[in-house]
Amino acid sequence: DTVLLDIRNLSVAYRGEDGMVPAVRNVSFTLGRERLGIVGESGSGKSTIGRALLRLLPTAQITADRIQFGQHDLTRASERQMLDIRGRHMSMILQDPKFSLNPVRPVGDQVAEAFRIHHRCTRSEAKAKALKMLKAVRINDPERVYGLYPHEVSGGMGQRIMIAMMLIAGPEVIIADEPTSALDVTIRLDVLKLLDDLVTSRGSGLIMISHDLNLVRNFCDRVLIMYAGRIVEMLDARNMGAAQHPYTRGLMAAQPRIGGNRQPLAVLKRDPAWLEEKAP
Ligand code: ATP
Ligand code: MG
Repeated sequence: DTVLLDIRNLSVAYRGEDGMVPAVRNVSFTLGRERLGIVGESGSGKSTIGRALLRLLPTAQITADRIQFGQHDLTRASERQMLDIRGRHMSMILQDPKFSLNPVRPVGDQVAEAFRIHHRCTRSEAKAKALKMLKAVRINDPERVYGLYPHEVSGGMGQRIMIAMMLIAGPEVIIADEPTSALDVTIRLDVLKLLDDLVTSRGSGLIMISHDLNLVRNFCDRVLIMYAGRIVEMLDARNMGAAQHPYTRGLMAAQPRIGGNRQPLAVLKRDPAWLEEKAP
């Protein structure tokens, strides 16, 4: 099995008033061409892991024995190498995308630019690619939305624009931090389908961070459970019943159950028609 990412003993601490405050402690895991879920309560360190991998935490202290990504050990990569990797090879869909868009540029240009930074092409080719990507995230009138400024789009649409921006250059590893929490249910499924398609047809690796254990167990292949900055358990999504740790069992017991123990998403994920219907 291909290992896209191999993380050994990753720890992250933030600067607090009285010194460093640990947020992630000695976390080790690998990511293959799969959907890996990370769940855990608020503050358990999920987003911190994602940001640390892409080194999007300028003031935090990040240590690791290694963060192997292809040929690169990211613990040793220069900022220049990180610039080449971010977006092109590894992308993170941020939990709160509002602050990531440039307020003074039309959103479409920002999506197109995310492609042009990494791929040699003309402006009009990049624009065409961006329009296609906006359509793929279920923006039905991409021509109109292309020219809007960030303050003119809703939260859900902003989230989809960010997703388009993060996926347009074709990264092999995608870290999606609560990617669908701001979206309507109908759009949510399309976005999940798009992410799923990147794994099944392009062979990318996806890390899906979520509060929603039901979503993760139905959408992902493996599930990593975090508690207070540590991994308490790594489980096969199809066999969550094998959970040993009391925290995991508590988390599972706390999930709302809709119509028994099968969630609507489970049906969709295993419905071949759903998986075959490829995003553009
Ligand atoms: P949520 O589910 O609410 O998104 P999370 O699991 O993503 O939570 P993190 O955002 O990774 O959790 O936070 C882990 C810990 O680090 C928390 O105690 C949080 O308060 C702290 N923390 C996060 N970001 C910072 C920061 N920029 N500066 C200082 N402390 C931070
Ligand atoms: Mg978070």
